[in-house]
Amino acid sequence: MHSKSRFFRFGNFGKRRLEDLNGIKRVRFNNYSEYDSEKSNDGGSYGFWTDYSRLENGKWEVSYGTTADFEYCPVCGSFNDHYAEDEDDIYNSGYSCGEFATATSDELIDEINKFEKEHENDDEYFIEYFVI
Ligand SMILES: [Zn+2]
Repeated sequence: MHSKSRFFRFGNFGKRRLEDLNGIKRVRFNNYSEYDSEKSNDGGSYGFWTDYSRLENGKWEVSYGTTADFEYCPVCGSFNDHYAEDEDDIYNSGYSCGEFATATSDELIDEINKFEKEHENDDEYFIEYFVI
């Protein structure tokens, strides 16, 4: 099966189906379906990604990013500045819209397999695995 996954550093995971996440610190789901390199900063054609970053408790924290230069909330994945200045009524995340979502490794593996299947022949969608 064709795999679009891109591995970074020590990326000898091969094309086998991903069964565990040993050694992986972050998984990034990229969506470049709207992306245009000449309009990727403020021109309206941005790349987006969702990161799953490993926490010390073994779960994964979900956050969002974009190639756009505008304020973009990593907690809810919208073009908003939700970073809270006032420490009294904010979440532990530091943002006013809530906590970062978390996922278990099983849930993340499900997401990976679903993503790979949905976007199998579409290079505008790809996953990056970070081991550092
Ligand atoms: Zn937000």
